[in-house]
Amino acid sequence: MPSVFIKTYGCQMNERDSEAVAAQLVARGYSLAGSEHVADVVLLNTCSVRDMAEQKALGKMATLAGQARKERPGQILGFLGCMAQSRGRGLIDSLPDVDLVVGTQKFHRTADYVDDLLAGRREKVVDVEAEPESEARIREHLLNGQGAPAVTAFVSIMQGCNQHCTFCIVPFTRGAERSRSIPDIVAECRELVGRGVKEITLLGQIVTSFGKRDLPVKEGKSAFVQLLEAVHDIDGLERIRFTSPHPKGYGEDLVEAYVRLPKLVESAHLPAQSGSDRMLKAMHRGYTRERYLGIIRQLRAARPDIGLTTDLIVGFPGETEADFSETLSLVGEAGFDNAFIFKYSPRRDTPAATMPEQIPTEVKEERNHRLLGVMNEQGARHYEALVGRRRQILVEGPSKRNPARLMGRTRCNKIVVFEGSDRHRGQMLDVNITGTGSFTLHGDPAIHLE
Ligand code: SF4
Repeated sequence: MPSVFIKTYGCQMNERDSEAVAAQLVARGYSLAGSEHVADVVLLNTCSVRDMAEQKALGKMATLAGQARKERPGQILGFLGCMAQSRGRGLIDSLPDVDLVVGTQKFHRTADYVDDLLAGRREKVVDVEAEPESEARIREHLLNGQGAPAVTAFVSIMQGCNQHCTFCIVPFTRGAERSRSIPDIVAECRELVGRGVKEITLLGQIVTSFGKRDLPVKEGKSAFVQLLEAVHDIDGLERIRFTSPHPKGYGEDLVEAYVRLPKLVESAHLPAQSGSDRMLKAMHRGYTRERYLGIIRQLRAARPDIGLTTDLIVGFPGETEADFSETLSLVGEAGFDNAFIFKYSPRRDTPAATMPEQIPTEVKEERNHRLLGVMNEQGARHYEALVGRRRQILVEGPSKRNPARLMGRTRCNKIVVFEGSDRHRGQMLDVNITGTGSFTLHGDPAIHLE
């Protein structure tokens, strides 16, 4: 059977979509190739959030097309995902060697289209139409854990976003919010736990809006909290995470869920984007700095050991030095362990792209550099504060940087690397933290004296 290589750009949602497409192809007998040079089919699952991500995928495809036509004339080349959705047939017009363009509501059709192209039944396929209930079609898993079945898995609970932040292309590439049903999600989670999974991350563009339009609030609990409770009830599941939430979705019911549901780990990735109320308003984020910090205070009261990370944008149109200083001070006040910092990148069709007072590249670079410096210093202090403490980790497998060692994750989402053996894989293990690396901890398995 033919072999497939999928290269993924962008976020965890894209990683999850690629995994589901790969699993669908494997179920039909395709094998997964180790590189594009030996594959019969090469698919690029693309990201549109920043221009650089699009340019990378376009450059990669241009190189592949040149190579493929020389070395493997029959190789099938395709674009999947966000850029496929936003550019559609235009991708084939500009790169005629591309055979396949599959949008964000059509991932589950990819295997059919690849079959058709390989069999010569179709010459080119472009499918970027909307498809009702496609949000429930991302459900197959590979569970590849580097030589052993994975103990963690991502489960897609919804697609799309209605928030329309003024910088964001996601509502255009992923469409309006569509949520799966709770029984459907729970069935998938239960099946994963039956296959050895101990930690599940619930995924979506704005998970806190899950089921908002379909499921009424019950006993003060939003649909998302109802879902957390239902997943929490699965026997054998040890940990629950979710990403990405929106600060607007942190009502009292969700904060209270952190107190009530022990499997919900003490970790939150809470995108702030800016510390300036003026910028938050221009971004259409729907909260103020004070409200954001209020949520952080509530979360810390609920779980004092909580690990907090965020997303921040520098150089949004109109951002003054004073606005930027507010973002700098937010990092300290919120006490983030880490932040993903982005230089604002104008995206077509978004309101911010045509706002006046676009910020020069060198100013964005300089602010990015300064914010990174502050964040890295603070992050290092937070990691060092854990040295000498004992933490529970879930052992996932070999460390990526040093496969001779194992790695696991604390409940507050910090990676711990340690000397271990194969029997530790998949275990909930207590470790003594002995040192730090760059956003990593080093540890030794703790010896329990009964
Ligand atoms: S909440 Fe805002 S930033 Fe997040 S996906 Fe929706 S529009 Fe984009």
